[in-house]
Amino acid sequence: MRKKIIAGNWKMHKNNSEAMQFVKLLKVKLVGYKKTEIVVCPVFTALSSVKSVLEDSQNIKLGAQNVHFEEKGAFTGEVSAEMLLSCGCDFVIIGHSERRQYFCETDQTVNKKVKKALSCGLKPIVCIGELLAEREANQTMNVIERQTKALFEGLSEQEATKLVIAYEPVWAIGTGKVATPEQAQEVHAFIRKLISELYSEKIAEIIRIQYGGSMKGSNAKELLSQKDIDGGLIGGACLEADAFKEIIEIAESLG
Ligand code: PEP
Repeated sequence: MRKKIIAGNWKMHKNNSEAMQFVKLLKVKLVGYKKTEIVVCPVFTALSSVKSVLEDSQNIKLGAQNVHFEEKGAFTGEVSAEMLLSCGCDFVIIGHSERRQYFCETDQTVNKKVKKALSCGLKPIVCIGELLAEREANQTMNVIERQTKALFEGLSEQEATKLVIAYEPVWAIGTGKVATPEQAQEVHAFIRKLISELYSEKIAEIIRIQYGGSMKGSNAKELLSQKDIDGGLIGGACLEADAFKEIIEIAESLG
């Protein structure tokens, strides 16, 4: 059985002291939750401070929101996988739709970032998902197929199993419009089938696929109960401790 994974994407919120205060609170509120893998993803500048608070945490892991695919050099404003590791990160979000939309990330740069992160021992949480216009034009599965094949390009079986995929319909991110459990399950099952074609059924059964897009306490149970939904990537609802805890509690209860 796949362990559920709930990750909080803080986006560009919380400065250093706010981040430390918040994670201190989370540490207390989330103590004892062991069945679910919990990840927090603050801004780059707060990673080390948050890690210092999490040093003695048994169950909360650290992730970053982006990474560059080069090791070092003249890439002003970028951060390497090694640098994230040195801050104590276990995970890194790659290819979030906001990165694709506002920062020109493509399927190809996403694949390069995935390879770099894996080669350093960071676990990528790779985001894929269709735009509203693509869903309305019945292009959802074509878009998902293109993005899924591209992100796995050149990865060995062993590397592939380290990945987490986040299916995030772009129209559901930060909009309050959540995909129905049936809509989400349909795409998750499709992604798993694609992975089994790319690798094998065994590998497809190992890889975790999170849902992201306005997940909150009131809709998490229905979504997380779906056969192929193995967790959530949470934006808005992860910025408030009780709202984040509510989702984790639901994941715990579902095992
Ligand atoms: C996200 O940014 O990945 C996300 C899912 O945001 P929200 O939960 O706010 O829709």
